[in-house]
Amino acid sequence: MARQFFVGGNFKMNPNTKAQTLALAELLNNAQLDPNTEVVIAPPSLYLIPVAEKLNKPVELAAQNAYIKTSGAFTGETSPSQLFEAGIPWVILGHSERRVLFQETSELVAQKTRAALDTQLKVILCIGETLEERESGKTVEVCEAQLKHVVAQLKPEDWKNVVIAYEPVWAIGTGKVATAAQAQETQAEVRKYLAKGVSPAVAEATRIIYGGSVTASNCKELATQPDVDGFLVGGASLKPEFVDIINARK
Ligand code: PGA
Repeated sequence: MARQFFVGGNFKMNPNTKAQTLALAELLNNAQLDPNTEVVIAPPSLYLIPVAEKLNKPVELAAQNAYIKTSGAFTGETSPSQLFEAGIPWVILGHSERRVLFQETSELVAQKTRAALDTQLKVILCIGETLEERESGKTVEVCEAQLKHVVAQLKPEDWKNVVIAYEPVWAIGTGKVATAAQAQETQAEVRKYLAKGVSPAVAEATRIIYGGSVTASNCKELATQPDVDGFLVGGASLKPEFVDIINARK
């Protein structure tokens, strides 16, 4: 079965006001979105519920992070069950900004993935190498090392609720997008790793999307690649061109 094209918008800690955030929801409400694309947006957590109330399109919401526990003395954290109860179906986990700025290890990301799936959330799981790792030929090794912990935590049936986002760190927010060939090459390797580590059926069915400086002008070529099943979009998800990215295969 063909994998459904998937486009996520990661607003990060933007915009700065509720009004601007709701305007982005309104942009999607008024746009013609390819009905074959699954669209998920991740506004700052404070705005998840107002955005959910504003959206009138089949666009789902994601939190940008969640913790491993259901409740308790964990100041500043949000639990997956709180998200689920609030009607937020998705969570982004393992984003490189969380790994680098907040010291999240691959083990913690795997625990978070397990906890989210146990709470019936769906997960956008981010992996990717730094420039130094790419230049020393370690791209695939790094992606596999990040995935290994998650593979160990998940049962084959869990993978239907996971989208893998391959996001090379050097491409995030830099304007330096991976070439279509670079994205395809790494994502095909990630799929091979899933085939080996989980099963060929899971590898075939799991969406592997690309993230890192995706724009309206580079998305169409990337979208032609057989192992690029969509995008995770940062900066451009805050602009009207996000609609063109959603419609990259239209
Ligand atoms: P970018 O961010 O599109 O601004 O490069 C992508 C991401 O961090 O998910």
